[in-house]
Amino acid sequence: MSLFSKFEALAAVGAELAQHGTSPVGVPMRRVLSPTRAEVDGREVILAGTNNYLGMTMDRECIEAGHKALEMEGTGTTGSRMANGTYDSHLALEREIADLYGMPHAIVFTTGYQANLGTIATLAGPDDILIIDADSHASIYDAAKLSAARVFRFRHNDAENLDKRLGRLGDEAQQCLVVVEGIYSMLGDQAPLGEILDVTKKHGAALLVDEAHSLGVMGHRGCGLAEELGLLDQVDFITGTFSKSVGTVGGFCVSPHPELAWLRNAMRAYIFTASASPANIASSRVALRKLRDETERRDRLWANARRLYKALGDMGLRVGPQPSPIVAVMMESREDTLNAWHTLLDNGVYVNLVVPPAANLNLLRCSVSAAHTPEDIDQIIAAYEIVAANLEAAREVGTADQACAPR
Ligand code: PMP
Repeated sequence: MSLFSKFEALAAVGAELAQHGTSPVGVPMRRVLSPTRAEVDGREVILAGTNNYLGMTMDRECIEAGHKALEMEGTGTTGSRMANGTYDSHLALEREIADLYGMPHAIVFTTGYQANLGTIATLAGPDDILIIDADSHASIYDAAKLSAARVFRFRHNDAENLDKRLGRLGDEAQQCLVVVEGIYSMLGDQAPLGEILDVTKKHGAALLVDEAHSLGVMGHRGCGLAEELGLLDQVDFITGTFSKSVGTVGGFCVSPHPELAWLRNAMRAYIFTASASPANIASSRVALRKLRDETERRDRLWANARRLYKALGDMGLRVGPQPSPIVAVMMESREDTLNAWHTLLDNGVYVNLVVPPAANLNLLRCSVSAAHTPEDIDQIIAAYEIVAANLEAAREVGTADQACAPR
């Protein structure tokens, strides 16, 4: 036994994934050509696994704002928000994100991961209770670990199960923070937010919604699922990231509660890390304005998402429960998933490979963008048709083998 022994199983999975040529883990993008194209493994591919929902990474105005800030304020802040790392632009971004949500209070973090870690782990202290959806993102699970609170899970998207859990707490439910996501990152399904809010309020608990994958994607102003459902004024805390529809790096928390200001000086994930670079903040500010105003990006995104979701479902592939810019195909085995991933890449389409232990599912996870053209979507569909045909052929061979097997 050594310090490294516990990683042997993980290393074996890594080696297995690398056996078939290009490893799907950490694929190098040799050259980035656009929000939807890159050179991978010596060929140009369509990027269909980037979370770049609005295609914002290459927006001219966002790039120019970043350039200007780089020239004026330098490459980094070299300090935490608490010390020398708060510039006027960090404060302006906080005001702007608060305005976007129509909430008075906002805190900007260096990443979305840190927004969850800071907010959740600090809000829920040793005398409190955290109840999180079982399919929560790793940052929410890590926040739960870091928090001193008692932690429970409820069944994914099951408001009745949440009701039971809260009911068992009695009066203690008032010291409970419930955490859900707007759109879930693996299957693209949405939280039943109305029901979850009803249950949460009934028991006097507070609700935090992570809108990482729904910011820019849902709601008239692009705030996410809570806005889309007209529930923004009932949610206690919203966290999110700039690393998807905003096209930069960063995270935030907004809230109607003035007490959010007290948290600022208590959140380790805010205090003990450097603030986002000036260029990053400048690009994020422009992107947030465009995300709110350029609603045609959302229209294009959803047209692409609906088209791809329907096409893959019509092929007989097992897609997620509802149309979404995250179009996931559930596969039977790791081997099938890996083979299909290579087939897609060979046919010029990059998607995300998801296999255990990263999640307890075998998935081909595709995310579409407003920047995909109808022809890009045609090409993605054509590549999946080859995958579907291969799976069908393998199934027929399997059935024939079974028919021939001695009884
Ligand atoms: N929450 C969810 C639901 C996410 O999917 C992610 C990123 N994948 C994060 C938080 C963390 O965001 P970031 O990349 O900004 O750290």
